[in-house]
Amino acid sequence: MKRTLTVCPYCGVGCTFYLVSDAGRLVGVEPSVTNPVNRGGLCVKGWNAFAFVHHPDRLTTPLIRQNGELRPASWDEALGTVVGRLRSIQERHGADAIMFASSAKATNEENYLLMKLARGVFATNNIDHCARLCHSSTVVGLAEAFGSGAMTNSISCVDRADVILVIGSNSTEQHPLIGSRILTAARSGARLIVADNRRIRLARHADLHLRHKNGSDVALLNGMMHVIIAEGLADRAFIEGRTEGYPALAESVAGWTAERAAAVTGLAPAEIIAAARLFAGGERGMIVYSMGITQHSHGVDNVRCCASLAMLTGNLGRPGTGVNPLRGQNNVQGGCDMGALPEFYSGYQKVTDQAQREKFARSWGVASLPESPGLPLTRAMDAAAEGRLAGMFIMGENPMLSDPDQAHARRALESLEFLVVQEIFLSETAALADVVLPGACYAEKEGTFTNTERRVQRVRKAVAPPGEARPDWEIICALAERAGYAGMRYPDPEAVMAEIASLTPIYGGIAYDRLDPHGVQWPCPEPGHPGTPILHLERFTRGLGRFTPADYRPPAEPPDAEFPLVLTTGRTYFHWHTGTMTRRTHLLDREERRAFVEINPADAARLDIRDRDEVLVSSRRGEVRAQARITEMVVSGVVFMPFHFAEGAANALTNNVLDDESSIPEFKVCAVRVRRAP
Ligand code: SF4
Repeated sequence: MKRTLTVCPYCGVGCTFYLVSDAGRLVGVEPSVTNPVNRGGLCVKGWNAFAFVHHPDRLTTPLIRQNGELRPASWDEALGTVVGRLRSIQERHGADAIMFASSAKATNEENYLLMKLARGVFATNNIDHCARLCHSSTVVGLAEAFGSGAMTNSISCVDRADVILVIGSNSTEQHPLIGSRILTAARSGARLIVADNRRIRLARHADLHLRHKNGSDVALLNGMMHVIIAEGLADRAFIEGRTEGYPALAESVAGWTAERAAAVTGLAPAEIIAAARLFAGGERGMIVYSMGITQHSHGVDNVRCCASLAMLTGNLGRPGTGVNPLRGQNNVQGGCDMGALPEFYSGYQKVTDQAQREKFARSWGVASLPESPGLPLTRAMDAAAEGRLAGMFIMGENPMLSDPDQAHARRALESLEFLVVQEIFLSETAALADVVLPGACYAEKEGTFTNTERRVQRVRKAVAPPGEARPDWEIICALAERAGYAGMRYPDPEAVMAEIASLTPIYGGIAYDRLDPHGVQWPCPEPGHPGTPILHLERFTRGLGRFTPADYRPPAEPPDAEFPLVLTTGRTYFHWHTGTMTRRTHLLDREERRAFVEINPADAARLDIRDRDEVLVSSRRGEVRAQARITEMVVSGVVFMPFHFAEGAANALTNNVLDDESSIPEFKVCAVRVRRAP
C-alpha cells in the first residue's frame, strides 16, 4: 500500500494525514502523529476523508447544456465554449459583466491562477470567494485594528492561555481538533468563558456560559469593556505604548453599564461583570471566535469589539493570547491570501495602488490591469438577479445551498446569460450551469493549503482523477491558453508557487522544499525566514493598534407576531457545508441523514410539537420541511437549523441583508415561524 501525506479537505484547522491507497484506490486515512496541528488526532470527518473520492457520482467528463439538458462534451469543445461565450459577453457588455467565484476548497495555486485569469486575461476585478460568506467581516475589522485580518496567534497558544473567551464558535463541532484542545486546556486549569446562546459542548465545561440574545454581541462586549475600564482592570501600559484611539473607545463604552448591556443582551448584570473580571484578570487571555460573530449585518462591529477587548487588556503579541478567528473551510485563509478578493492582489496588495498594478502587470506580461475594486460575491448575486451581470464562472462552490435566501440565489443564477461551474460533483449549482468542467479533488492533485493559523502546508496527489477530470490549476491554465494568453504555462503547481512568492511579500520565503515536514506560517518574507507563529509581537502590522468604537445595532429582522421565533443556522459535527462530500460518505451520512430544527421544550409545548415530529419552518423568503428536535440546546424563542441539507435547506429561510462594510450576509438571525406539518 502507498501512503501519501496531505491535508484534510474539510475545516480550517488543517490536520494532516496519510491517504492510504492500494492499486490506485484510496482505502483509508492515517493521521500524522508529528504534525503540531493535530498531533495524531483527527475528527470523524478527517477519518472518513477518503470515502467520497471514488464515489460513482463524480463528474468524469465536461458537460454542455443543449436543448435544456447537460450532455457530455470533449475538453476541446467545453474550453472553446467557455472562452467564446465569456469573450462575447466581455465584448458586448464590458469586462465587468463577468464574475469569477474562486474556492476556499481549491489550493493556493489555483486561487492565485483564477485571480490572474480574471484580472490579467478577462480584465476584471470581479473575483471573490466564499470568505465573503464567512469571514469577510474579519478581514475588514482586524485589518483596520491590527493591519492584518488573520488569526493573530497559533493553535498551540490554546495550551498556554489561562483564560479563553469563546464567542460565536461551536468549536468542538466546527473545528473539532481546536475544540478538543480548548476542552483539554479547561480541564488543565484554564478558565473558560463561552458566549453563545446554544448550550454547545464547550459550554458544559465553562466557568461562565453567557446565553446572550442572538445579535447582541456588541452590547455584551461593550458592557464587558465598560466594567474593565470602570474597575481599573485595563492594561494602561499596553494601551499607551501600542495603541491609538483609546479616548474614543472609552467615551463610547462609558454609557454601556452592565445594567444597560444586560437589558439588551438578556443577561444579568452580574454575568457581564463576572465575564469582564474573569477575562481581564487573566495573565494570558485568548479570544476565539467564528461565524457567530462574523455573519451579521453588523459583523465588522462585532470583530472590532473583539479586537478592542484584546487591546484593552493587553492580550496581543504574546503566547496564549490574541484574537483568533477560526477560519471555516480548509483553504479559506489561502483564498484570501491569494487575492481571490475584489480589492486585493495576493498578499492583500491593493488593486487601487498604481505601483502594485504595475508590478503585477509587468510580471504577468499584460499592458494594464483594471483599477477599480470589483464586486463582492454577495453583491454580484444581487447584480445577477437584477440583470446587471451576464456571466459567472464558479469554481468549487455551491451558492444554491450556501447563499442566503435560496430563491434569490436561484433567481440570480438563472438570470445569467452564461454560467460555468467547475466541480467534482453535479452540485445544486452545477445542475443550473451551461457548461460544467470536471475538477480533480484534493486527493488527486498537488498544491498547498493555508490553515487558520496561517500555516502553508503541502497537498499531494495520492490517486488519479476519475475519467477525464483534471486539476483546477490545469483547467484554468488551459482556459488562459485558449483565450490567447501565453503567460500561464507552468510545468507544475510548484512553479506557480514560485511566481506567488516573487509577487507576494508575506509568502516571499515560501517554496515547496521548505514546507516539509509541517509547513511554514506566514509572514515568511524571504528564503530562510522561519515563519511567524505569533503576529504583532513588538508592533502591529499597521504600527499602532487602532481602537474603533462600535455602537449596538439590532439584527435586521427581529421576530414579530407573524414570525415570532429567531432562526440561527450553523453546521453539525458530521457534515460539511452543503454536504457535497460528507453526504456521499456513508459513515457520516448514516449519522445525520436529514434536515432538523432544534426547538426549546417551552416553545414546542406552546406549538404542540413533539420530538421527531415533521414541521414546517417558514420565513418571509421561503418554507422548508424538517424534523423537530426538542432540546434545551436552544433557549426559548430561538430555533437552530444546520444548512447542509438540500431537501430542507436552511438558506431557503435566511435573510440576504448584508453588512455595509464587508458585504457578509446575516446568516445568524432571521425571523421564522414553526408549525407541525399537515
Ligand atoms: Fe479535518 Fe478539521 Fe476534522 Fe482536522 S478538525 S480532521 S482539519 S475536519
